Amino acid sequence: MQAPSLHPRTVEEVRQKADIVEVIAEKVVLRKRGKNFVGLCPFHQDRKPSFYVSQPKQIYKCFSCGEGGDVLRFVMKQDNLSFSETVLQLGRRYGVNIQTASPEKKRQYEQYVSRQEKLFEILYLAADFYQHVLRSPQGEAARKYLEERQISEETQQAFQIGFAPPGWQPLYEYLVNQKHLPVKLLEAAGLIVPRSNGNGWYDRFRHRVMLPIFDTRGRVIGFGGRAMGDEQPKYLNSPETELFDKSQTLYGLNVARDAIAKQDKALVVEGYFDVIALHQAGVNTAVAALGTALGTQQVKHLLRYSESKQVILNFDADAAGVTAAQRTIDSLKDLARRGDVQLRILTIPDGKDADEFLKAHNRDAYEQLVDEAPLWVDWCIEQSLADKQLSNPVHFQQASQEGVRILSDLTDTMMRSHYIHHSAELLSRGDGRLALRLEEELRRNVRTYRWRGKESKVAERSGKLQTSESQLLQIYLHFNEHRRYIRDEMTEHELQFNLAHHRTLWRKILDLFTHEPGIEEREDDLLNSLRASCAHDEHLNQQLSHLLWLDENTRVALMRPKMVVRAAIANMELEICQKRYRYWTQLWDKAYQDGETDLARMYQNHIQAEHKKIQTLQKAAQLTFEELVQAPLFESQLP
Ligand SMILES: [Zn+2]
Repeated sequence: MQAPSLHPRTVEEVRQKADIVEVIAEKVVLRKRGKNFVGLCPFHQDRKPSFYVSQPKQIYKCFSCGEGGDVLRFVMKQDNLSFSETVLQLGRRYGVNIQTASPEKKRQYEQYVSRQEKLFEILYLAADFYQHVLRSPQGEAARKYLEERQISEETQQAFQIGFAPPGWQPLYEYLVNQKHLPVKLLEAAGLIVPRSNGNGWYDRFRHRVMLPIFDTRGRVIGFGGRAMGDEQPKYLNSPETELFDKSQTLYGLNVARDAIAKQDKALVVEGYFDVIALHQAGVNTAVAALGTALGTQQVKHLLRYSESKQVILNFDADAAGVTAAQRTIDSLKDLARRGDVQLRILTIPDGKDADEFLKAHNRDAYEQLVDEAPLWVDWCIEQSLADKQLSNPVHFQQASQEGVRILSDLTDTMMRSHYIHHSAELLSRGDGRLALRLEEELRRNVRTYRWRGKESKVAERSGKLQTSESQLLQIYLHFNEHRRYIRDEMTEHELQFNLAHHRTLWRKILDLFTHEPGIEEREDDLLNSLRASCAHDEHLNQQLSHLLWLDENTRVALMRPKMVVRAAIANMELEICQKRYRYWTQLWDKAYQDGETDLARMYQNHIQAEHKKIQTLQKAAQLTFEELVQAPLFESQLP
């Protein structure tokens, strides 16, 4: 629904009351730096913090993509809202008295606000209804179920647990027939589903234990429903609605928030009942993702409450749990590698979940697991060593390869260095001399592994290469004073054109030259002979005409032929180096995987040498505009 236009006074008041740092910090992890706050820009793929927020000026600016503005612009861009919607959203939050631009708009605004409020009211009434049913005779089986799970009545009330009775329409009857609420809004709240024959509606949740999901302000925004028997799915969640966004919501955060801030850490568990059991046992920092893997948005949400950015992920220690942990680490790696989150991994022994563990042990035992939970890198390294006999050469090889993969992921140099040392110690099992050698070995392999990922993009390369080749031929054809230099360079560096028609033309040129060495000095003679020798080949003839025709851009580029030649030659050499580089890395990969250490080391030296050459050539191949402008103009006239 379109929000109405608002009075300028209201807009101004919102701008004054909504603090930009507070609003942005909900979406972006901000660090104080001098007078400003900095973070990773949410509007582009930011690698280092380019996003600045100034509290005194109440503005933000990204120095990488250029996005910037005031608090209203940020919310508009971030939440994809219209200007009025933004003012309304912030206005309601900061208690601003909303005034519309004109009286006739007032009704429109009231409708808008009342829809949101009605949705909250409907969800509140539904939660109330389910709780009421749980306490009624109809709820007996559900009460028994909760009793078996050892969830006290006090906890049931704290989490407002309820029961959706069997039957197609009990909630519908209560909300529509008794409370006279509009059917369309019930559907918008995700509580009822239209029948497929178009004839009426039925309740989404039937015969399930109901767990309301709250926003951080404690308002119901959706439900999770646990099947009572073997019905599928075991858990049914509300669909996403105007109020309920799964990727932004964490179950239990409304009750865990204060404890997270106080204890400066957040605990993420897998299921609703893990959260409930932990809170009942007094572990008040527990929350859960909603049926999906924990996402970046949810973690950023948590980080708002923990200053030291500590997030502990609790997984079952069985195979499924380990896989889930690995997947979650992968998806949060960017945050973790930058140090935006201190990610720690807790796996519960004996394949239990948190709920079961608490029942078998006690709170203290669980708290101890939390305190001892390793950092994600340590956990990954531990996993790579699990079930391996390091005295067995095959196992040793596997473990060290796995280690290289993990270590290569670390972007921070200090951290990487620390963990290379640590891994070498683990792998050497106390043999100090071996540890030193292994450390050296690991360091080298990690370096090679990281380079391997940095191969330049093939498509981009081939475009540049094609340009270089045509430029080289154009200069050869148009400037007879450079012909000899180009020919010498090509021979000396053993260069060959990559494009087939360029190769053919070049061969023809060399043929003409061998036949009649003087021809290179005479501009027209060479061109005429070349044209004649291409006359019978339509395709080649066309390519030659392309090269002989100089458009405006090419003219500018060819104003400094010497520089262009040098850059083009470097570019062609670069191509050869990169081919060799790829070749050596393939060999290294194989040798490394086969455990052929000596061979791998030899290839590594080749890779290293090639890498150095590539870096030099990349610089030489880059012709900047400044260089072009500063170089002396070539004296002869262009054709
Ligand atoms: Zn940006």
